[in-house]
Amino acid sequence: MTEVDQQLNIMKFGGSCLTDAASFSQTTEIIKNYLKRGNVVVVTSAFQGITDKLIHFYEESCSDGNKTENQICEDIIDEIYTKHSDFIEGNLEKGTTEYKASFTFLDENINDLKQLGRVVRLLRPSLDIQDLIMSYGEKLSTYIVSQYLKAIGLNSKFISSDELILTDDNFGRALPLLEETRKKIKKIIPPLIESEKLKLICVTGFYGSTKDKKITTLGRGGTDLTAAILAYSLNESFNTKVIYWKDVQGFLNADPRITEKASLLNQISYIEAKELAFFGSKVLHPLCLDVNEKGNIPSEIRPFNDPNSENYTRITKEVIEDDKIIKAVTSIMRLSMVTIESGTMVSLPGTAAKLFNILGENNINIKFISQSSSENNITFGIDLKDSMKVSFLLRNSDWFGKQWFSIKIDNEISLISVIGAGMLHTPGIAGKIFTTLGDNDINVRAISQGSSELNITIIIQRKDCEKAVNVLFDAFINENKNSNT
Ligand code: ASP
Ligand code: MG
Repeated sequence: MTEVDQQLNIMKFGGSCLTDAASFSQTTEIIKNYLKRGNVVVVTSAFQGITDKLIHFYEESCSDGNKTENQICEDIIDEIYTKHSDFIEGNLEKGTTEYKASFTFLDENINDLKQLGRVVRLLRPSLDIQDLIMSYGEKLSTYIVSQYLKAIGLNSKFISSDELILTDDNFGRALPLLEETRKKIKKIIPPLIESEKLKLICVTGFYGSTKDKKITTLGRGGTDLTAAILAYSLNESFNTKVIYWKDVQGFLNADPRITEKASLLNQISYIEAKELAFFGSKVLHPLCLDVNEKGNIPSEIRPFNDPNSENYTRITKEVIEDDKIIKAVTSIMRLSMVTIESGTMVSLPGTAAKLFNILGENNINIKFISQSSSENNITFGIDLKDSMKVSFLLRNSDWFGKQWFSIKIDNEISLISVIGAGMLHTPGIAGKIFTTLGDNDINVRAISQGSSELNITIIIQRKDCEKAVNVLFDAFINENKNSNT
């Protein structure tokens, strides 16, 4: 069999797959099952809650270092130690090589962490040390899981992802240098699988390193992205698939908290899944869909609690053309809408640039933008929690604080996005949306459509949000069902 025919499943397990004995034995069963079909690369997150504790440890280490703060730091380190030592005690047999190796690794790394805390205290905050500290969660969990798999007779190899993944130096949210990473990974992993007859490799999620070997993290939830990058890099060498094991079944076509009509999407294209991810469906790190799409990697989101279930989401390159033009109606319930208005904007190019610079520099995430063609107003949406900050920033800025701009902020806003690649060739979707909303007395405050034509976004009053999702769902997704009844 040539390498390319060999099956390689890259499987991501999050912290919730490693919480207790039951979930851990489930994880082990899944790995064993997939090993029957080919090679497996396991990518793991930190144990649940550990990344938050590491961030807390870093923040406390940054403060003045008085007695209470020192005590807080020591307590956090103790909690981190106990969580891991409990895991080792609970799963590995005392006295075995793997048990001893796990404790040696834990002790060494906990000492390093304490040392790092002292460095932070002396040198003051620095983003690169924060990333280094955060990486210990994945390093510890993955090493221990790998030792456990060895102990039960699976020949597993541990690799720390800084040896595999190269990133830029945007600490805290680093971007992978994909092509360089692919070269690196191709040099390391395929020969290992070939020469050592290894079928199982455990790789730490969440972090990589810069070219000058500084550890970087890929943003919260970044272990998904690690799995995607590995799949992208190994796709030419093996018959590769990536499976994200999650505590949900997969992507749903609406938010189940808003409508009980929400159901699982069995198959969805990368481009549609990306829209879903951007509009509040936080199933996957959004960048991993880009990476999977770029490499055309078959991907699956599967329910961890029901591993053999037929109900899961497959994400593929092809858009399925069935009778459903619209695949999902998603929503963001709590938004604020800001409108900046002034006759002077017409004659002042650069106003939009000034506005978005202020927002960008202050880390304000913008959910939608629209500008009327009269050019005398710009409307944009932000998270409700950013509303006060934006109001303060704009009203105190040299430019927008001037009297001829009026700034209006409405905090009772929701956003609804109607998503589906079929819209691209189908006229009349927007018309149907507005008729449906109009017939139901729902007032539309603003609209925007990306030029990708994969979604239409509608801004409405929050009080109408539930109703709007339900009526749009019936109009587009349940339409056949309804006409039969
Ligand atoms: N442990 C990291 C986090 O909590 C990465 C991950 O879980 O994917 O964000
Ligand atoms: Mg996590």
